[in-house]
Amino acid sequence: MLMSSVEFTRPGRRDERREKTTLFCPTCGHESSATDEGDWLVTEHDRDGEHEVAYVCPDCGETLTVQPLLSQ
Ligand SMILES: [Zn+2]
Repeated sequence: MLMSSVEFTRPGRRDERREKTTLFCPTCGHESSATDEGDWLVTEHDRDGEHEVAYVCPDCGETLTVQPLLSQ
């Protein structure tokens, strides 16, 4: 198993209030950090050369797919 690290584009100090790293489950409203401090069940894979991260809600099982590398 690869020990790959999850890369996120950090919001930086000027955008702190947005809390980009917090994810909300649209189904049950579960809220948790998208970093490894959160309790999402995270799976990563590559599709068409794009690195993709899927977060599975620990409460209801909803899957949220996130493309974390939105470099501007
Ligand atoms: Zn949920």
